[in-house]
Amino acid sequence: MDVSSVSGDLVEVLYTEDQIQGRLKELAEQIRADYEGEDLLLVGVLRGAVMVMADLARHLDRHVEIDWMAVSSYGSGTKSSGVVRILKDLDTDLSGRHVLVVDEIIDTGLTISWLVANLSSRGPASVEIATLLRKPEAQTMPVEARYVGWDIPNEFVVGYGLDYDERYRNLRDIATLAPHIYS
Ligand code: 5GP
Ligand code: MG
Repeated sequence: MDVSSVSGDLVEVLYTEDQIQGRLKELAEQIRADYEGEDLLLVGVLRGAVMVMADLARHLDRHVEIDWMAVSSYGSGTKSSGVVRILKDLDTDLSGRHVLVVDEIIDTGLTISWLVANLSSRGPASVEIATLLRKPEAQTMPVEARYVGWDIPNEFVVGYGLDYDERYRNLRDIATLAPHIYS
């Protein structure tokens, strides 16, 4: 979906489809160099990371495996609570594997820090994080993401996998949502 179809719901486009692809290509090149000679398992966090995974994986000029987890962070609306529950677990055994968690956004960091602790307990060779967006001002849990697309202000964004109430995930660009939609 193009921004023009829902322009009344949005305040500002932060990143266009082209900018997102350009940045993912750069991150993919770093990842390719860092994991040279190692196997690599990409773990996507459903549902928000679907677009990032699809594009990042295609920019990676090497073999990768892809698996998915679905977690729900209890909470409603635009706030995350930090209480995490696994809705769908991996099908892959992590022992000895180099795992790169692919996520679309780190907000408080509660979800991803829980996830990294959980995956780390399964005997992997390494666990690192790649996220397209990060909100440094919102972060309450210290998590080190090795690959970050952009740091953004503490505003609610939608598009490119990011939803509000399950809508806007299919927006091509990333934009800030107008407060009248969620308040
Ligand atoms: P955290 O646990 O880091 O606070 O939040 C993680 C999850 O909250 C993200 O994976 C995403 O699903 C949701 N989230 C956090 N910030 C935003 C945002 O600005 N927009 C949208 N659509 N979802 C967000
Ligand atoms: Mg997510």
